[in-house]
Amino acid sequence: MQSKILIVEDETILREIAKDYLIKEKYEVYEATDGEQALALFEEYLFDLIILDIMLPAVDGWSVCRRIRKMSNVPVILLTARSDEEDTLLGFELGTDDYVTKPFKPNILLARAKRLFKNSIRPSHQQDSIDLCGIYVDKLARTVVVEGTKIDFTHTEYEILVCLMEHKEQVLTRETLITHIWGYDYGGDDKTLTAHMRNVRLKLGEKGKHITTVIRTGYKFEVNQK
Ligand code: CA
Repeated sequence: MQSKILIVEDETILREIAKDYLIKEKYEVYEATDGEQALALFEEYLFDLIILDIMLPAVDGWSVCRRIRKMSNVPVILLTARSDEEDTLLGFELGTDDYVTKPFKPNILLARAKRLFKNSIRPSHQQDSIDLCGIYVDKLARTVVVEGTKIDFTHTEYEILVCLMEHKEQVLTRETLITHIWGYDYGGDDKTLTAHMRNVRLKLGEKGKHITTVIRTGYKFEVNQK
């Protein structure tokens, strides 16, 4: 089955460049030119990926993202006008998975999209679930239950948590985590991982203490954290 991608971008040229490129790669592409249209399509179809511009007429990208995240953990790539740190950080707080700076090269956008797809369809290895310290991960359903309460993790946050839990008591360097999640040629900066890690910890609540920071190195899931 073809993966469905929604592109939300009001600039026709950019939208068409992205669309043509993704169609060539055999994706099924839907387009929205403003936030309202995007939300209407989102309610109608089940997308595998959403590429979302921030500056949009009617309803802006931030509001679209908030609404989407209330209902779904679909991977979201943000299109930012410039490498604006504030924008990317707010994006990660709202649960976006990645960002691409405009004007973008279509092959970069495609590479980022593929990476998110690769992660989301990765077959579960060894075990179908992880049960540690009151955190239960069902890898088939991709759900996380913390002390009996189901918590919504975005695609990227989920990947980070599972990677740490599957390698409990081992230090995972920032490079290892970035490679695992985005691929070795990831062009993003270090702050991306930091922002996602912050969200993971926040969502784990008191259980967030099990993820410890190893200064200047990386992170570790420690079972025995009092
Ligand atoms: Ca725009």
